[in-house]
Amino acid sequence: MRIIFAASECVPFAKTGGLADVVGALPKALARLGHEVQVLLPLYRQAKTAGVPLERSGLAFEVPLGADRLSVECFRSQLPGSRVPVQFFRFDPFFDRAALYRTAEGDYPDNERRYIFYCRAVLEWAKRSGAAWDIFHAHDWHAGLIPVYLKTLYRSEPAVRGARSLITIHNLAYQGLFPRETLDLAGLPKSLFTSERLEYWGQVNFLKAALVFSDRLNTVSPTYAREIQGPEMGYGLDGVLRSRRSVLSGILNGIDPEVWDPETDRTLPRHYSAARWDDKAKLKQELLEKQRLFALPQAPLLGIISRLDDQKGFDLLAEISDSLLRMNLQLVLLGTGLKKYHDFFLGLKAKYPRRIGVNLTFDESLAHLIYAGSDMFLMPSKYEPCGLGQMISLRYGTLPVVRETGGLADTVREGGGDGGNGFTFRDYTGEALLACIRRACGAYQDRRLWREKMRTAMSADYSWERSALAYEALYRRMLGSAPDPL
Ligand code: ADP
Repeated sequence: MRIIFAASECVPFAKTGGLADVVGALPKALARLGHEVQVLLPLYRQAKTAGVPLERSGLAFEVPLGADRLSVECFRSQLPGSRVPVQFFRFDPFFDRAALYRTAEGDYPDNERRYIFYCRAVLEWAKRSGAAWDIFHAHDWHAGLIPVYLKTLYRSEPAVRGARSLITIHNLAYQGLFPRETLDLAGLPKSLFTSERLEYWGQVNFLKAALVFSDRLNTVSPTYAREIQGPEMGYGLDGVLRSRRSVLSGILNGIDPEVWDPETDRTLPRHYSAARWDDKAKLKQELLEKQRLFALPQAPLLGIISRLDDQKGFDLLAEISDSLLRMNLQLVLLGTGLKKYHDFFLGLKAKYPRRIGVNLTFDESLAHLIYAGSDMFLMPSKYEPCGLGQMISLRYGTLPVVRETGGLADTVREGGGDGGNGFTFRDYTGEALLACIRRACGAYQDRRLWREKMRTAMSADYSWERSALAYEALYRRMLGSAPDPL
């Protein structure tokens, strides 16, 4: 199949979150399955300094934006470690900026122009590509107008006429809301400004546009795909999602085994596997020493690596912190984010200096040591579209303690035939979290049971190959059915 990946972020060229990891990894796994995948990105300043060579591709064209026509020049590169081609659209007034979307004062005021430009550049590029494309795979609101263009202004272009479109939602909280006049800039007819199409309470909503116009919708876990159809997690779009539920599904993300494997991890001083894990205990010792903590007899070590954000359940942790740190356990935290949580953890460190290690930085190699050296990994999220932390910790035999939501519910099980691979709780309360941690600590004292769970955890397959096969099957279903009529 010929597949276009349209997204604002892609590792190693531009990243603010998990979207970039998916777009940097999934095309490579699809290419290994024999598909022709083309990644299309804005040329951000970050991409120019990413350390991967870019060259002019010799293609330049004009992109309409309202009454203007803006000149774009194309550059090309490849996803590192592959032959997957990446095309970049260069228009420095929009993309040669310090950050991707916002300054400390707030969002850039011209974001609607920037991403209309990007979406139209994708279509203008496809028109000139000399190929007929099967799938336009758009990601998040930045690429949200692409499915609209495919069914309106560009519908009779030979390069895209037979194509189907898929939107992947990585986080429903970000939607791209702009004033009504945005439609003129986008060159789209005013007739689309209705609540059945692009309008959302008097504004144009780019993500909603994609949800209405794409042939298929998906998100990054089956449970999140269900949850977002309800008012609690639907961020105002649950009605639209419910109306399209017959074409909405969830596919879990993967993790990169070249980066995340306790047998070969380049950042770790020693290695272990499900067959030979003595060195995991030594890594725990090294982690404790690094944190200047003395090991307490029989005490499990709980790791947390996270953005310090309300989404991640830190209000629950704050609620139970005194009870928690009086139990026979130790905690290591690595994270940055909201100031209130920085202050909270510094206060906790002052109160329980022998119990907790607090690291308020972004530190890739410390993250690896925490995944490897901890006994458990804590992720009590309020919502979690997919979540990588729990998949990485499973891979490292570090049993996750998680709330049953989104991708966490799809990857972590307590009990079941094989005894499960971690510990889970449902109610979003401090009490439920504490009870869950108590169960985990009880299980930890039974070494035989614990090792069984570790073995189960480490045997799971969270490779990108597995995700790519699921996307391949979805693309085939899309091509096998008529485009969604509008
Ligand atoms: P989200 O994308 O919502 O932040 P995920 O669990 O999907 O959450 O992914 C977070 C990723 O970022 C994980 O790989 C985690 O290890 C990493 N990470 C988060 N905070 C830090 C930090 N302070 N230092 C190093 N890695 C971090």
